[in-house]
Amino acid sequence: MTAEIANAMVFGEAERQSIEQIQSFVDYSHHSWSVDELETVRSAIRAHYRNEQRGLCAYCRNPVSLQSPQNCHVEHIAPKSKYLGFMFEPKNLCVVCADCNTIKRDQEVHNDEPDTVQNGSRRRQYPRSSAAFRIVHPHFDRWDDHIERFGKYYCDKSAKGHFTIGACILNRQLRQFGWEPAIVDDAAIRELMNEYLNLADPAVQTSVLNRLMRLMIQLQ
Ligand SMILES: [Zn+2]
Repeated sequence: MTAEIANAMVFGEAERQSIEQIQSFVDYSHHSWSVDELETVRSAIRAHYRNEQRGLCAYCRNPVSLQSPQNCHVEHIAPKSKYLGFMFEPKNLCVVCADCNTIKRDQEVHNDEPDTVQNGSRRRQYPRSSAAFRIVHPHFDRWDDHIERFGKYYCDKSAKGHFTIGACILNRQLRQFGWEPAIVDDAAIRELMNEYLNLADPAVQTSVLNRLMRLMIQLQ
């Protein structure tokens, strides 16, 4: 099994120095992430993970922008407001699209950000395994193992998938605009659903299809 991100960021000497300097300030907090002095560090992180993730958002899998920073944001998988010690931990970083970023940031502002780490408050070291996280973790998990996507509809295949869909409101398109008939008629969707019917595990199949059908009935 290969995770989405094969290589974590390795900071160069200049980047490490910038980080250490910021960390030495008396008012160092998760807000320090945005200071001007870290501009080149943030930009290097963004470039690294944009490549590693082949230009796709770690959570919703929509494309992030390839040049502009506007739709390609550095994400802290264990939130920096709760885990200041992991703010520059390379395995805690990835890139996400503007919508996923805004949804997570609003949660941070309102202090209702879901905790992505199992037993998080007790952890001193950054966890090294998938099982330690509630969210689909791009350094440890394969997205496809946890979430299935039918056009704009995201369906969970595991508890992690469920958590991730909820935390990032991945079904935001349907929430905002409702179910578009064009999605149902889409040949690619039918193909995916057929593929799903051939899944080895009948329990997974049934639960996913039931959810999909319930959703379609609700939205009619
Ligand atoms: Zn996204």
